[in-house]
Amino acid sequence: MNKFQKRKNNAKTVALDRIKELFRQAEIRPDYANRYVSLARKISGRHKVRIPPELKRKFCKNCGVYHSSKTLRIRLNKGKKTYFCLNCKTFLRVPYKP
Ligand SMILES: [Zn+2]
Repeated sequence: MNKFQKRKNNAKTVALDRIKELFRQAEIRPDYANRYVSLARKISGRHKVRIPPELKRKFCKNCGVYHSSKTLRIRLNKGKKTYFCLNCKTFLRVPYKP
């Protein structure tokens, strides 16, 4: 690994840490949660870092709202988990194993 690759790799680690920290803060401060989600998505796009799978379902892919009990409804049917966003009224179906 040359020094440029190393620097790039380091930037990605920092970006991932920031994304995780933003989601942690979003849980603590619900009034800033939507802002933190938009920042995390910007960082993820800029550095080509994926948002970790356990955080991926915590916001709406379509409108970017942070999901809490007020903005999300989850229903299970026919082996699929349906995430319904109450803010923009779109849904996401994810298969699951019972
Ligand atoms: Zn939405």
